Parts: sequence; structure tokens; C-alpha cells
Amino acid sequence: MAKNLDAYWMPFTANRQFKKSPRLLTRADGMYFTDDKGRQILDGIAGLWCVNAGHNRPRIVQAIQQQAAELDFAPPFQMAHPKAFELAERLVELTPAGLNKVFYTNSGSESVETALKMAIAYHRVRGEGARTRLIGRERGYHGVNFGGISVGGMVANRKMFGTMLGGVDHIRHTHDPVRNAFSVGQPAHGAEFADDLEKLIALHDASTIAAVIVEPVAGSTGVLVPPQGYLQRLREICDKHGILLIFDEVITGFGRTGNPFGAQTFGVTPDLMTVAKGLTNGCVPMGAVFAKQGIYDTFMNGPEHLIEFFHGYTYSAHPLACAAALGTLDTYAEEGLLTRATELQGYFAEAVHSLKGEPNVIDVRNIGLVGGIELSPLPGEPAKRAFNVFLDCYEQGVLVRTTGDTVALSPPLIIERSHIDRLIETVRAALRRAA
Ligand code: PMP
Repeated sequence: MAKNLDAYWMPFTANRQFKKSPRLLTRADGMYFTDDKGRQILDGIAGLWCVNAGHNRPRIVQAIQQQAAELDFAPPFQMAHPKAFELAERLVELTPAGLNKVFYTNSGSESVETALKMAIAYHRVRGEGARTRLIGRERGYHGVNFGGISVGGMVANRKMFGTMLGGVDHIRHTHDPVRNAFSVGQPAHGAEFADDLEKLIALHDASTIAAVIVEPVAGSTGVLVPPQGYLQRLREICDKHGILLIFDEVITGFGRTGNPFGAQTFGVTPDLMTVAKGLTNGCVPMGAVFAKQGIYDTFMNGPEHLIEFFHGYTYSAHPLACAAALGTLDTYAEEGLLTRATELQGYFAEAVHSLKGEPNVIDVRNIGLVGGIELSPLPGEPAKRAFNVFLDCYEQGVLVRTTGDTVALSPPLIIERSHIDRLIETVRAALRRAA
């Protein structure tokens, strides 16, 4: 064991506070973590929206163990290994029709950078090199690299880091607490927020715009579910102006909303789609970008001797990650997990919305197996009230997550109704104690 906690500089954590009273997890199985004191902690957030099949799944564990002994690494440039192809083939059976090419990365952030570069390069290769501008959205979260924080709209993610990528603009987010508070599932109002894109097109001219990137459901900025008709309208505007539509499905991918991908739940197919997290059930870092056939073909129509897309990572298609992903897909398929949220979402929605009326709850949002409970901020201390709920729930043996003043729930898809009850009742008790 470590003698002290000094050397590790933790990400996205108030290190000084954490090190005074650390929360250490030492094991995990099914729906539960075990902490260093031997307490069972119900996992209400699938690790970090990633452990969709629950923890310690035998097929995935065995796949990783076997792969490590058989082929620990293979160079991904000018070389490959069979499982990279097998996995791609399996993945495109799950994607919306047309998204049938897979480019591997190692994280959600890398998937985003890859998709943005792919979009710009695509236009260049087909002779529209002026299309370099990228459009993101306020309150978008697209990871932490410079492209992602530039198209993203999370203030804290940007403000310490100086100049962002040039040629980026943003449309408004879709959160409308006046018209849509306590909407069950997709809110009724706000499709017209998509028309912001037309305004930006008028301002910059379509001939300068490469792509628009949005999360179908914004997760890390408070669980914002797209209003009915909104994504459809974005799709129409992009089509009209030759702009690529990118869905960042890092959290909505792999069953979270009741289908393999959010694109299927919302009935809108993007041109590029980024994933990570649930791709390997969180066991080995891996991400991917799915591209439409036509985008791939455009690159492949160039001169034969050229590397078509000069981009990639040492660990692209890492054998351990591919093996973990194959084990994950087997587990999802055997247990019907990629559509399980459809069966449970009615029960889950009712449970989460039963928190309406509890102290300081100003909105409840949900889709599939995602819930967000927004609290009124403590005066002068934004995010504190929700964070206190997180701490209290943890003391009661339940792991939830907070994003700003929203308590977010995104449990493993193996969750049972009894777990949902415990999750919600623990949050309810914490809200009452905090009042
Ligand atoms: N995009 C979205 C929509 C995300 O939610 C996240 C992570 N929460 C990322 C990108 C970044 O993924 P990673 O942390 O794996 O880089």
C-alpha cells in the first residue's frame, strides 16, 4: 500500500480535499464496488457511464487474460492483427445503417479529435478545402483535448487554458427550464434551437463550415435530453448545406438510451459518430469513430501510394482493447443489454421523477437509463449542494455523480428494479437531510 497519497495528482478532483478523506475502491463485482474498508457500494453510474454490463464479467476478464498471453501488442501502422478486423465487423452490425467504417482510438477525447480532423480532411480531399470551420454547442462536453474543449461549451473546461482552436463557433444548448421542467423523456419544446445553425451559416457561409458536433444527450453538463424534432432539424440543415453532422456518443453509445446508439433512439443518423466507454465495458481504454461509407470512399479515391488519412495512435486497435471489446459485445448480446434500457426506462423514469417535490429539486430529466436531478444552487456556492448529496449517498453506500448542480444517475444496464429503488431512496434521503 502507498505510504501516503502525495505523489498521485488526481484528474478532475479537488486533490487537497480528497486527500484529507479519500474514497478508495478496491474491488468490483456486478452492481457493486467494495471500498478499502470492506463496504459494498452500489454503482449508480456504471463507473463513469462506461461499465454498462456491470463489473467483473467473466467473458471480458477471460478475453483480456488470454489476449495478454497470446499477443500483447502489435504495431497498428502498416501492420494489424486479426481481432481488429473482427471487432470492426461486429461493431458495424450494431451501428445505424451506413455508418460502416471504424477508426480506433483510446478514449472519448481522442475519438473527438479524430472525428474533427476526419471532417476537415474529408472536405479537403474532395476539393472543398475552405471548409475548416467547426460548430459546437454551448454546454457541450467533448473531452479535454484542444479540439474538444474548443468545440465544447463547458466553461470550466476552457477558462484556464488560453487560446482555443480558431474557426470555431457555437449554437445554443437546448436546456429550457421554463417550458420543459420535469419533462419525462424528450422535452416537447425547443426543436427551433437548431435554427441557430442557419444563423451561423448565414454569418460564416456554408462553404467555410466542415462539421457540427453535438452529443445526442449532453451528459457531463447536466443530462440535457434533446427536444423532440431537434436532432432531425439539425440533420436537415446540415444536409442542405453540405455540412457533416457528428454525434458524440461517448456516453449514449452501447445501450444507454435503449438502443445500441442514441442515433437509433432519436431516429437520426450522423455522418460521423464517436464512442468510447461502453465499447470495452470500461475495462481497457478504447474509443472509436464510425464513418459513413461515402466518407471512407472519398479518402480511398486518392492516389494509391498515399496514406489516405495521416492520423492514428500507437495504441490504436490495441490487442487487449480489441479482445476486451469482443468479450463485451458477446456479453451485451447474450444478455440483451443493448436494449434492456427500453424495458426498464418506464420504471426508472417513474422512480427518478418521484423526486419532484423533494427539497431544492428544480428539475428532473431522463431518457433510457440516464437520469438528472437538478438542484437549486446554494447561494454563492454553485455545485456544492449536489456535491454534498454525492458525499452523503456515498456514506450510505451508493455511488452517484454530480455535474454542476445536477445529480446524475447512469447505472449499469444489468440493474434490477430493487437496485433502482435503493438508488432513488438513497438520493431522496440525502436531499431531505441536506434541507
Ligand atoms: N465526449 C463525451 C460526450 C463524454 O461524455 C466524454 C467523457 N465523459 C468524452 C467525450 C471524453 O471521454 P474520455 O474521458 O474517455 O476522454
